[in-house]
Amino acid sequence: MQMNYIVLDLEWNQCPDGKAAENAQLRFEIIEIGAVKLDETLTLVDRFREVIKPQVYQDLHFKTKEIISLRAIDLENARSFPAVAKDFLDWCGKDAVFCTWGTADLTELQQNLAYHKMPSPFAFPLLYYDIQKIFSIVYEDRKSRRSLESAVDFLDIPKSVPFHSALSDAHYTSQIMQRLTPEQILANSSVDYYRTPKNRRQEIYLTYETYTKFISRPFRDKVQAMKDRTVISTPCCKCGINAQKRIRWFPVGGSNYFCLAHCEEHGYLKGKIRLRHQHDDLCYAIKTVKTITPEEAYAIREKKEVQKLKRRLRKKFSNDRTP
Ligand SMILES: [Zn+2]
Repeated sequence: MQMNYIVLDLEWNQCPDGKAAENAQLRFEIIEIGAVKLDETLTLVDRFREVIKPQVYQDLHFKTKEIISLRAIDLENARSFPAVAKDFLDWCGKDAVFCTWGTADLTELQQNLAYHKMPSPFAFPLLYYDIQKIFSIVYEDRKSRRSLESAVDFLDIPKSVPFHSALSDAHYTSQIMQRLTPEQILANSSVDYYRTPKNRRQEIYLTYETYTKFISRPFRDKVQAMKDRTVISTPCCKCGINAQKRIRWFPVGGSNYFCLAHCEEHGYLKGKIRLRHQHDDLCYAIKTVKTITPEEAYAIREKKEVQKLKRRLRKKFSNDRTP
């Protein structure tokens, strides 16, 4: 069977009466699904678009009203989420490779499926292609993230339809993909974090051209996570040999850690750990290890000194304040 790219864009609504009134099981309710199907050569094959009648938040949040063009009457006459989602997933087919602009859509889709007690069709781990990230890797600095419209401007893609409708945004994203090669896209997968590893056996190891990524099982807290040998190890991203630390893991901000390691064959390596909380209050670690230049290694040393100084100052000021 042939593989297809499904370029997906969702529009969602949130509680119009503020956070206090919101349904904790469904913060973002999907009200429109738009998608474009491309074949292996990135040629347009088909489109999907359907509006969804909301069941949790009947009125639109003012922000939702501002950006999308849906009218109350469109929503009122639409089918409900389970019916639309089922048709959409059937339309996607078995060998779908999902592409989105940014990291949110697949997470919200899974959250909405779970809310409606529908089975998840997605594999674990769910790998997808974040075209916003890949655009940055190919055309910019890997780190910056542009809005869809500014990427469309950058590539001189004609702006024939307004933005912020699910189908038009999926369509623009697919046109950006057509300015990339399948190789550039497929070499840069992302992991969706809606479902993360439950145990050691499920932990995720991914290798990319310039770095490796590891996603851990859950830990009770930060301290437990930063004691785990697999979490804090620094295997070289080129050869896998455990590289020696030159600077041990040090905290930057509330939930990031950096370290500097060195592989005899491949030189300096930068380690980064982000600790993220899950709904159940447990935390898991996302670690990346990448090769860096001696200048970048020096910058990590500097960063560490700055952090040390900041901590000292904070301590001094809090001491000064105590009578
Ligand atoms: Zn190495």
